[in-house]
Parts: sequence; C-alpha cells; structure tokens
Amino acid sequence: MHVDEGSQASGEGERHRVRDIFTPPADDIGLRGKNEPLELLKAWSGTSLAFAIYLMGGQVLNRAFWPVLLAAALTCGMGFVAHELAHRMVARRFGATAHFVANDPWLLISIALAFLRVFIAAPGAVWHQGYLTPRQSGLIALAGPASNLALAVLALLALWFIPPGMAVLGLPLELVLRIGYSINAWIGLFNMIPAGPFDGARVLAWDWRVFGVTVAIGLLLTFVIRV
Ligand SMILES: [Zn+2]
Repeated sequence: MHVDEGSQASGEGERHRVRDIFTPPADDIGLRGKNEPLELLKAWSGTSLAFAIYLMGGQVLNRAFWPVLLAAALTCGMGFVAHELAHRMVARRFGATAHFVANDPWLLISIALAFLRVFIAAPGAVWHQGYLTPRQSGLIALAGPASNLALAVLALLALWFIPPGMAVLGLPLELVLRIGYSINAWIGLFNMIPAGPFDGARVLAWDWRVFGVTVAIGLLLTFVIRV
C-alpha cells in the first residue's frame, strides 16, 4: 500500500525520513525496477552460504558442507529474511512505503570473510519512506531484532518438547534448533548496537527502557542460556 506523504494526520510530533542499515541516501533511485522476491532470495542464499562456510572453517569441498549449508539456510538465512520482513511489515503498517534491497557487495564480502573464519552478515536493508514519528521509527527498528529474539525463544521451547531422533530434510531437528537458537539470539543482539546504522540506535533514540529490556534479553539468550 502506498500512502501519500501529505495524507497523514498532522500533530504527530517530529517527522523525519528513516533508513535502515547500509543504505546510502541516494538509494531511492536504485529501488526502481527491483524485484523484491529476488532481492530477498539473494539475501537468504548469500547469508546462508557465508554462515555455512564459516561453520565449516572454509572446508567447502568437505562432504559435510552440503548438510551444513542446508542447516544454515534453515537457521541463519531464515533469521535474516524474518528480520527484514519484520521491518517491512511494521513500516507498511505505519503507512510508509517499504522495500527490501539486497546489498550485493556486502553479501560477497561476507562470503569472502567467512573463509577467514569471520562471520559478518549485512544482507541489505529495508528502505522506507514516509512521515514517521520517533515512536513509529523506533518500533520499525525494534521489529527486526525482536523477530530474531522471538525465533530464538521458539527454538528454545521447541528443544524442550521435540522427541529425540526427529529429523527435518534429513538433518537432526535438535541440531537445527540449537543452531537456530544461537544464531538468532546473536543476530538480535548484534543489531541492537546503539550506534551508526544499526537498529539499536533508533530504538535508543525512541525509548531507552525498551532498548534496555531488548538488550538484556539479547544478552541473556546469547551468553547466559546456552543450549
Ligand atoms: Zn535491522
């Protein structure tokens, strides 16, 4: 849905444009003609590949690489796609136009870095435009990390309930859930860095209490509850 910029009710306080991680200001021109499902597919496959290479320590010719890549796609890749779609969903709910655009250079850099045993994923950004209050901007930013923390909690709960020996696409479900828990907790926490282009900066600018609680949950899931 497209909402005309002038059509929103006045008196909402400060109005400003907001952009997400690694999006240069001139990107609105680059948005035209982008195929969003293809952009999301690039982000999913690129982050999955980078994470699998990282997990395998660069041993891509090892027979175990393919099952690990599948596990990475079900956990890390899905986590990043969920994060971006959550931003997009909340932005659209507030009447902003919002589209995901993959960051091709950063996807390639993250794949190359994975061979050096460094995992940095910057799959792209949800670009959104429209008049937003600081609260709306904060909630759009929060939606990404919150979706990853929620996925981590779901994986944790599922680990308690699944019977032993269950498999998903030939992979042990318990292993997939363990990886899904750890990587989503980490993606959620990492994006709450309160600086630069990270989601945490905009959440903190809106409400320090929401920021504090989200970071506390991220720290708890990443460093305290280990599965
Ligand atoms: Zn984000």
